[in-house]
Amino acid sequence: MIKHIVIVGGGTAGWLTAGILAAELAGGAESSVRITLIESPDVAAIGVGEGTWPTMRTTLMKIGLSETEFIRECGTSFKQGSKFVGWKTGAENDAYYHPFTPPLGSAGVNIAAAWKKGFGELPFADAVCLQSQISELGLAPKQITAAEYAGSLNYGYHLDAGKFSGLLQRHCVSKLGVVHILEHVSQIKSTDVGDIESLLMSGGRKVAGDLFIDCTGSSCLLLGQHMGVPFVDQSAHSINDSAIAIQVPYADEDSAIASSTIATAQSAGWTWDIGLSTRRGVGYVYSSSHINHDDAEKELRQHIAKSVGVDKAEELAARRIPIKAGHRAKFWQNNCVAVGMAAGFIEPLEASALALVELSANMIRDELPVSRDALPIVEKRFNKVFSYRWERIIEFLKLHYVLSERRDTEYWRDVTSPNSVPEGLQELLDLWTYREPYYNDMLHCEEIFPAASYEYVLFGMGFKQSSERAVRKSDGIAGGIAMIENNLRSVDRYAKVLLSNRELIKRINTHGLQRI
Ligand SMILES: Cc1cc2nc3c(=O)[nH]c(=O)nc-3n(C[C@H](O)[C@H](O)[C@H](O)COP(=O)(O)OP(=O)(O)OC[C@H]3O[C@@H](n4cnc5c(N)ncnc54)[C@H](O)[C@@H]3O)c2cc1C
Repeated sequence: MIKHIVIVGGGTAGWLTAGILAAELAGGAESSVRITLIESPDVAAIGVGEGTWPTMRTTLMKIGLSETEFIRECGTSFKQGSKFVGWKTGAENDAYYHPFTPPLGSAGVNIAAAWKKGFGELPFADAVCLQSQISELGLAPKQITAAEYAGSLNYGYHLDAGKFSGLLQRHCVSKLGVVHILEHVSQIKSTDVGDIESLLMSGGRKVAGDLFIDCTGSSCLLLGQHMGVPFVDQSAHSINDSAIAIQVPYADEDSAIASSTIATAQSAGWTWDIGLSTRRGVGYVYSSSHINHDDAEKELRQHIAKSVGVDKAEELAARRIPIKAGHRAKFWQNNCVAVGMAAGFIEPLEASALALVELSANMIRDELPVSRDALPIVEKRFNKVFSYRWERIIEFLKLHYVLSERRDTEYWRDVTSPNSVPEGLQELLDLWTYREPYYNDMLHCEEIFPAASYEYVLFGMGFKQSSERAVRKSDGIAGGIAMIENNLRSVDRYAKVLLSNRELIKRINTHGLQRI
């Protein structure tokens, strides 16, 4: 019987997984499982990861966390998507949005065809969705009267990763019954058939379990080091291998908070700019084969200087973080499954890492069998699903580069090289040269990046089809045009009632949101 789940690792992946599992499976009933989380006092969590997807709202709601408390305690602000600056040509006005709200339309309306027919001079995102314009105005996605986790527009969060892990830890231990052990795992003991039987702590304590979840970050202690599941290097498709992070204070407590992550193309990679309520998190993700670490830091400080001045930018502390692009050959073996950085990591463009943690923990929760006899079939299905998801992530991130017209540095020449395009992405690009993306171009019903996301990036980057397919009745062009007209009329209406990101957070800090 599976009665005890042991999670190793107390970073965001470990605590999110603990919360998701405990909220559903623990609770002291006859059928419930015990959940223990072991965290090393000697190995710090990575402490970055400041952008989430809208999925985090459902996750936190299910865990039972109050959104008000989460906003007050984690430096949280509302994220409505990503703004990509300088990726197409690097010219002054080169920018597009990938908002969280999908384009208008449905299976019966080809909204991209309607946009091209009547509104091609407008940015795609502005025509088919309100959110890019609302975000550009620095407005919030909801009103103060909206209940917790409800929004007028789809939203995720910007948050302080360290504070978030702390909040999750307190909630999991005090409300969900998770047992927290602060000790370093120094030895792993297996059975004859290769299952993990128990873990030995540095202090001599032994912890046995039925299912072990490896959330030990990039060291991948259980699944990688102990069980020998190999790492699949993906640097051929994702060449950025380094990051530098700098925390930037606001000028004062009324400074505007950006409503989207701003990803700006640089000479050998890109910078993120994430507006929390308490500070900005700014960083440079780059390829060390194309720029050395010191020059990258210099370029990052020059970028920050544009908003805070040269003197301020020079005095801020910088932190360097290595990135190893890739993932495990499989994610589940016997009674051990890896989640978070232990499973893999690709550069943080589109901030998909925490979403993958949520999806992994959700699948473990939903598929967890009562007894260990059924683990092989769950292992097989989990590996199939997550191998597929990693492939899709690698392809979608690569899409941001391959459409670029930039050739101004060796980095941009290398990163746009046709040889670096994954086969699956090339197949989609070939398909879309003769027609617009369609919702069922993706094979799964729960795609990590649906066709809508591809449309935002493709058309944002100015993708041109080589031949125009004749308009069909099923494209619903007239309906699509009416939807776009209505959308454009709605922007002012929304702008009048939505507060700025900063003002809404201030009001939540004072009054709180209505609990559901
Ligand atoms: C530059 C950068 C930017 C990022 N931005 C984003 C973003 O915007 N959005 C997003 O979703 N993700 C982002 N990520 C990814 C995100 O940071 C991680 O997915 C997330 O923090 C989860 O990390 P983790 O918990 O898997 O690993 P870690 O935070 O590394 O935690 C590992 C844990 O394992 C424990 N441990 C290790 N060894 C032992 C041992 N022997 N015994 C006991 N415990 C042990 C450690 O103590 C620690 O608690 C970013 C990553 C990087 C590098």
